[in-house]
Amino acid sequence: MSDVDDILRRIFGDTSTSEVGAELLSESTRYDHVMKATFPRPSYTRVIAVANQKGGVGKTTTAVNLAASFAERGANVLVLDMDPQGNASTGLGVSHPEGSLSIYDVLEGRATMAQAVRTSGIYPSMDVVPSTIDLSGAELEIAALDDRVNLLRNALAAYLKEAGKRYEYIFIDCAPSLGLLVLNSLNAAEEVLIPIQAEYYALEGLGQLINTIQLVQQNFNPSLTVSMMLVTMFDRRTSLSREVYEQVRQHYPDILLKTVIPRAVRVSEAPSHAEPAISYSPRSAGAVAYREAALEIALRGNVHQNTGSGEQNEPQDEGQNMPQDSGNDGHGVAQDDGQPRDGAPDNNPDNNDGASDNSDNDGRSNIGYGDGDSDMTADEEERQ
Ligand code: ADP
Ligand code: MG
Repeated sequence: MSDVDDILRRIFGDTSTSEVGAELLSESTRYDHVMKATFPRPSYTRVIAVANQKGGVGKTTTAVNLAASFAERGANVLVLDMDPQGNASTGLGVSHPEGSLSIYDVLEGRATMAQAVRTSGIYPSMDVVPSTIDLSGAELEIAALDDRVNLLRNALAAYLKEAGKRYEYIFIDCAPSLGLLVLNSLNAAEEVLIPIQAEYYALEGLGQLINTIQLVQQNFNPSLTVSMMLVTMFDRRTSLSREVYEQVRQHYPDILLKTVIPRAVRVSEAPSHAEPAISYSPRSAGAVAYREAALEIALRGNVHQNTGSGEQNEPQDEGQNMPQDSGNDGHGVAQDDGQPRDGAPDNNPDNNDGASDNSDNDGRSNIGYGDGDSDMTADEEERQ
């Protein structure tokens, strides 16, 4: 019995008769589980672009918190901020004032990536290439350059050759568009993770995004795969969230992560403290879920990877890495009951029904605990 469980037991007495206590117990059990779990290390550098042309779906939050989840375990992680807004830089505590050396200079050839890279102050094994608002001009400026779609790819390749360490994960936080900056991001990556916000228009535009990625694969980057989708801002009390999850699962059963990220107050607060939720509120529902998603990503590897060699741009048949629209295409991802999980994918019986906190837009927050909703503030919940 962990100390935390002991404390909860003292607070709530016999947790088997206290629903809130039982749920908190399960939450803390999930934390214990994921912290104890072994994250298998990839045998090659996984370069993952987090992309969706829609803004506000959780791209940056996902890139930052997944990167943090791996860095927390000591993995060498690099985050490339390819959004002129620079939210990933902010969210990882890397200052990025206008005019400072950034990925903008790297793309336009004024600096190498080695010159622009910074070590995050939060995790010693995490590096960040920040962006600045200057990057917003790059879309037009790089249009005239030779090899304009491969600027990031070339700069990254040169850096990785020289870098004194091997990264296990590289996350590219994409801008909310389908322009040249995103094209550069997709060309530098081998995998795409698409965050999908659990909301009414969730699937709108998804077809267009996948078509674009397919064009990139066919024309520029044959080894690119859409390897993962992750449902974000999931509110387990609403049927809409479950419907969105179910719809995505029906269309893309092989690549949808079973872990869902709850809408969580701490996740949205963390950037204003220049930290990922993982470090800002390590035991909060959102942080636990992002760690569980990271574990799932580590466990499943790149499901479309044919050779496992990790070499980029291996010639492959066109289109073979694209997600199949429904049906199991045999890419080897086990599908079980199809239920979303805000628990770890390791058959932990405590996982399936963990509490998730929710925050309404008006700032009032409450937490749903299954059928017996209890109005508890996130503060109360997360002050464990
Ligand atoms: P994108 O990068 O796709 O534009 P963000 O990651 O910036 O999206 O998220 C959009 C907004 O939603 C941000 O204010 C962020 O803090 C908030 N947010 C993202 N994920 C969650 C979550 N799981 N719970 C609560 N708020 C979230
Ligand atoms: Mg963003």
